[in-house]
Amino acid sequence: MSKLNVAIYWGAACGGCDVAILDIHEKVLKVKEACNFWLWPVAMDFKYKDVEALADGFLDLTLFSGAVRNTENQHIAQLLRKKSKVLVAFGSCAHTGGIPALANFYRKEDILKRVYEESQSTDNPNKVRPQVSHKVPEGEIEIPALFDWVKSLDQVVKVDYYVPGCPPNPERIWEVLLAVVSGAKLPPPGAVLGAGDKALCDTCERKRSEEKSIKEFKRIATTIPDPELCFLDQGLICMGPVTRSGCGNQCTVASNMPCRGCYGQPEGTMDQGAKMVAAIGAALEAKDPEAIDRALDSLPDPAGYFYRFSMSTSLLERRKE
Ligand code: SF4
Ligand code: SF4
Repeated sequence: MSKLNVAIYWGAACGGCDVAILDIHEKVLKVKEACNFWLWPVAMDFKYKDVEALADGFLDLTLFSGAVRNTENQHIAQLLRKKSKVLVAFGSCAHTGGIPALANFYRKEDILKRVYEESQSTDNPNKVRPQVSHKVPEGEIEIPALFDWVKSLDQVVKVDYYVPGCPPNPERIWEVLLAVVSGAKLPPPGAVLGAGDKALCDTCERKRSEEKSIKEFKRIATTIPDPELCFLDQGLICMGPVTRSGCGNQCTVASNMPCRGCYGQPEGTMDQGAKMVAAIGAALEAKDPEAIDRALDSLPDPAGYFYRFSMSTSLLERRKE
């Protein structure tokens, strides 16, 4: 069997998705046997011009992790789309915007001001900001321009498949790679691979009450949760009701930590954060407005909690003026 031509790229990302690929451990040797890599910046030194020189559709598979935050991310997304038969949005940031898209709660100007003028570790009396192009004796240098807001990969180019997770579960990654390498029949384009259709709650074995009655919210940083009981029953925010299953309940079971929602919304849910607002509303004990306000006051940063991974593809998308 001839080897597959593969690219792995990171846009606005932390690198965790690349590490998760290595977390398939010794199976990575099988991946190496089956694939020729043409771009994988975190692992090897490649030049964009070498990718530009490839014939259109030359790459059998591209895994694109990271959101699209600047002109370089967009340029490479468009380039890899042209060069790839199958383009996969790999991980939460490419899938739904992920953690970088929390920036969509702010204006670009506010972010730049905070970073280059106000942060405690910044010493910048002349308020110098990075310039997209700058003349030096050797010529003109350019850096990518920051977009006003953070986009998911499919807001820039057509995506064939989505592999959710921050990062995706290594066992699911292996299943996806195996399916592509073996030429197995893949689902129709647009499908989510390596995850279930149901909500995480449907796969959770913690004991839970039918009727929740939350009086106040606790913070996981200052609470030792009961490992047997539903987190929501303990007043801890768990995104299980509005998150796609398939991660193997890595946080809720393996780590005694509430789900943060990284697999995105399950099938049939339009907006993960809005659905969580409804779930929380139904779970509050208080029925009178003042008691509801008191309970909600104990929940810091609800927008950040509920849209932690899904801001780009939410109905809100970004802060609207
Ligand atoms: S809310 Fe969280 S802890 Fe409770 S059942 Fe759902 S996934 Fe499990
Ligand atoms: S439990 Fe939730 S946050 Fe943790 S890995 Fe699974 S989907 Fe992601």
